[in-house]
Amino acid sequence: MELSEKDIRENCPHCNSKSQAFEFPLLETKNFRVVCDAHPIIEGHLLIIPKEHVSCIAEYSGELYKEFLNLYQKFSDFLVSEYKAVSSFEHGIFGQTVFHSHVQMIPLGCSPLQIVPEGLDKIHKLKDLAGLKKLFELDGGYLFFSIGENKWTTDVSLSAPRFFRDRFSKALGRPERGNWKRMRENPELLKLAQKDDTATQNKWNVYNKKNE
Ligand SMILES: [Zn+2]
Repeated sequence: MELSEKDIRENCPHCNSKSQAFEFPLLETKNFRVVCDAHPIIEGHLLIIPKEHVSCIAEYSGELYKEFLNLYQKFSDFLVSEYKAVSSFEHGIFGQTVFHSHVQMIPLGCSPLQIVPEGLDKIHKLKDLAGLKKLFELDGGYLFFSIGENKWTTDVSLSAPRFFRDRFSKALGRPERGNWKRMRENPELLKLAQKDDTATQNKWNVYNKKNE
């Protein structure tokens, strides 16, 4: 049975603006919400989420893509300014646990081999984000990540649920924060996570006022 548009939206945590995914908002624009990850790996961990139910960057319309690039730059600048590092990732449907686009940004600077220790032959340099559209058409999906200005996709043969979350949390020395569903069952960890999100919000509010 095919799900109707209404069914999809009702069951999608990123379609419902009242869901816990939006508990720590940072910025809302015409087509996007930027929020702290409800289960942050570290302070500064944030998500860019389109309001429309689309699966990943590769499916953004021209208008969405343009608005997204502005936000991506804005929040890269924020993380570099306040946390001295920026990285990002998107499960371009491979490894997604929520099937509504959410680009994750995290203050982390490291070698790509810390994220993909399987070897440099398992990652492919990406010139720009527009290249994701082509990969999506060719392979039916992608695993995108960036560290600083450098962008890559990972060999899709490595794909697994929460692929990047697990690896970024390990690289940050916080493997217990990889599985967000398990985090929800741990009140102590959740308390620390909320503290991180509140700190991110406070830093963003000050930074945004200064840079308006
Ligand atoms: Zn959705």
